[in-house]
Amino acid sequence: MCNLHKTISTRVLSAPRAKAKFEQTTIERRELQPNDVLIDIKYSGICHSDIHSAYDEWGGGIFPMVPGHEIAGIVKAVGTSVKKFAVGDRVGVGCFVDSCGECEYCQSGEEQFCTKGVIQTYNCLDYDGNPTYGGYSQYIVVKEDFVVRIPDSLNLDVASPLLCAGITTYSPLKHWNAGPGKKVAVVGMGGLGHVAIQFAHAMGAEVTVLSRSLNKQEEALRFGADHYFATGDPAVFTELAGRFDLILNTVSANLDVDAYLSLLRADGTLVNVGAPAERDQYSVFSLIMGRRSIAGSLVGGIRETQEMLDFAAEHGLAPQIEVIGADQVDEAYERVLKSDVRYRFVIDVSTL
Ligand code: NAP
Ligand code: ZN
Repeated sequence: MCNLHKTISTRVLSAPRAKAKFEQTTIERRELQPNDVLIDIKYSGICHSDIHSAYDEWGGGIFPMVPGHEIAGIVKAVGTSVKKFAVGDRVGVGCFVDSCGECEYCQSGEEQFCTKGVIQTYNCLDYDGNPTYGGYSQYIVVKEDFVVRIPDSLNLDVASPLLCAGITTYSPLKHWNAGPGKKVAVVGMGGLGHVAIQFAHAMGAEVTVLSRSLNKQEEALRFGADHYFATGDPAVFTELAGRFDLILNTVSANLDVDAYLSLLRADGTLVNVGAPAERDQYSVFSLIMGRRSIAGSLVGGIRETQEMLDFAAEHGLAPQIEVIGADQVDEAYERVLKSDVRYRFVIDVSTL
């Protein structure tokens, strides 16, 4: 595994340029530093953000690119100063792998808002200027402070999507107080959406799913939804006008924002986690008329990610996944784009 310079060779799935097919190749991970953990990756989820990035829809893509920020694996080695983890531990890594550690946000456990700039797990340059490569990979080297523990009751395959889809939905639901007495709508029932339903239900909120068609109704109710509506029917927007305290928008494309704002009660909030490349448009009157808010949320900090994993284990929540081999990722991307996934593809990294 190690060459003369002690870097760590690892098989990866790499996109040579935007929208190109994935290639199986080898890269070098850095030599283990005192605070580093070497992780033998077992499973890596496919988030729609991987597709936005690998297709360079958001711009600024760094190629070749090794996506993947829903990483679950086993600790294979630890640096000399590592205190929290030991060889054999079941661990996860999410959307970022470093931050300054000193700014107010790092200090308060919200590293994702680090003022120096959080270092994303892939498609980013680290503080030394080296590109980061993500979880479609056999091994990854990560500072221990950016590694979380996967509870024993969660299998590694179903745990992997929690590292992004889980925290990205848990964090805003908590921040905006989803709980008893609150009416929460989840828009879009994909990877994020189907986990959001489970979390919002477990937090005690009344959960409504707004999906485009009736196709996913049965499964939504099984995940804990109280109500389900197909937004393809315009009458739904009249029926549900003024109903929700909180709407969590997980859709990867632009929506008619005014139509969704009209579904909020006074003082309600529309929180966007879906991240379409094109700008949204809305009328300020949609906000003014009900003192409504529009907001966004970015993943969640490390401490909250651990809390989310523990919450999922405690409540017996888990993503519904389709496990695929490394040679099926191009096809999986096509299927995600057609919303033809129930509800998260997870790569079995042993097939690399
Ligand atoms: P996904 O599995 O593809 O789910 C997206 C869902 O949106 C689909 O299942 C579909 O739900 C709905 N949808 C798709 N195209 C649509 C369209 N044209 N009009 C209306 N609805 C549409 O994607 P995901 O992995 O959950 O990610 C969702 C979005 O969140 C992506 O943009 C991703 O980049 C973003 N994201 C953001 C963060 C963050 O920190 N903010 C973190 C992770 C991901 P229905 O079939 O039920 O309608
Ligand atoms: Zn993601």
